[in-house]
Amino acid sequence: MKFVLATFNRDKARELAAMLALPGLEIVPLADWPQAAAPEEDGATLADNARIKARAALALTGLPAIADDTGLEVDALGGAPGVHSARYAGPESSYSENVSRLLGDLADVPAGRRTARFRTVCVALHPDGREWLAEGVLEGGILTAGRGTQGFGYDPVFALPDGRTLAELAPAEKNAISHRARAVQSLASALATV
Ligand code: IMP
Repeated sequence: MKFVLATFNRDKARELAAMLALPGLEIVPLADWPQAAAPEEDGATLADNARIKARAALALTGLPAIADDTGLEVDALGGAPGVHSARYAGPESSYSENVSRLLGDLADVPAGRRTARFRTVCVALHPDGREWLAEGVLEGGILTAGRGTQGFGYDPVFALPDGRTLAELAPAEKNAISHRARAVQSLASALATV
């Protein structure tokens, strides 16, 4: 099946394209349509936002579409930033501004209570109305300062149970264990039965 990949985030597109290089699946980037515009991600949940992106891409291209939405859930912050992870420090905020706000919000939280997880929801939509939904989770904790230069977003401050941050993993290593990889694998298994 041929799918358009509904993301404008180059970092995510790179990871997703690597994970979706599967037999029987042809992936085309939304960037192939110069008139494509990012829809407003104003959904209440990750699944809502993934659907918004997939619907917009399907409407523009007429092709089946795959979209993902990811949130970082920090237990000491009641699950924030969650669905607001991209704009945590304000509209148009950069990765480093979001990380700074996160570290500031957690300044008084001791090491044992800094547990967190990344959650990704992937949606595939077909023009005939069929929809597939899959989720992937990666458990970890938030450090007090960043480490590592790989990855993107909150990766430098997100530590795995073995102590390494996601930004200290080679891309292939992150792509083998990440929340996004788990969601994509689950989505790919659902699509393989179609
Ligand atoms: P999006 O809504 O799925 O584009 O992702 C929301 C925000 O979460 C992004 O802007 C990043 O800051 C962050 N994010 C998403 N995926 C990752 C990841 O794999 N590592 C670190 N941060 C991520």
